[in-house]
Amino acid sequence: MKAENSARIQFDSLSVNEGFARGAVAAFLARYDPTVPQLADIKTAVSEAVTNCIVHAYPDRVGPITMTVAVYPGRLVRITVTDKGVGIPDVRRAMEPLYTTGDPEERSGLGFAVMQSFMDGVRVASRPARGTRVTLTKRLAAKEDT
Ligand code: ATP
Ligand code: MG
Repeated sequence: MKAENSARIQFDSLSVNEGFARGAVAAFLARYDPTVPQLADIKTAVSEAVTNCIVHAYPDRVGPITMTVAVYPGRLVRITVTDKGVGIPDVRRAMEPLYTTGDPEERSGLGFAVMQSFMDGVRVASRPARGTRVTLTKRLAAKEDT
């Protein structure tokens, strides 16, 4: 299916850019009048995906993160967050709630669980030493006539 509209941005894996990514998605989707809860869900999921790139993909360097956002017919929103970092050896395991390779003081292993509960779909494709792509989808509620 062909996107009605799309955007692509690339930014550095710095924690300051997490807010930028969230804001960019919100700004892009503003013209589709998403409901406040739906927009909040999308921003939360994007923030988890981008934080994972910052924390896990590039553990001791700054690397590129690419984010795309596209809207398909039927108000289907598809967001990808891609890094060229260390990759995930076992995606199925990584997506289990409470699984984390991070510092247990700081990480709870719930990022993927949050993405799954707030979005309609979450797909993860990853190759060790090559990087990871997270694809998030959600259908926006029909626009109310005003
Ligand atoms: P939390 O999100 O609760 O702070 P977390 O980041 O460890 O903790 P998840 O977001 O669910 O939890 O991710 C689970 C695990 O998957 C991570 O601990 C890490 O091992 C791996 N992972 C996730 N995203 C990436 C990524 N982009 N690159 C490499 N590894 C990743
Ligand atoms: Mg996480």
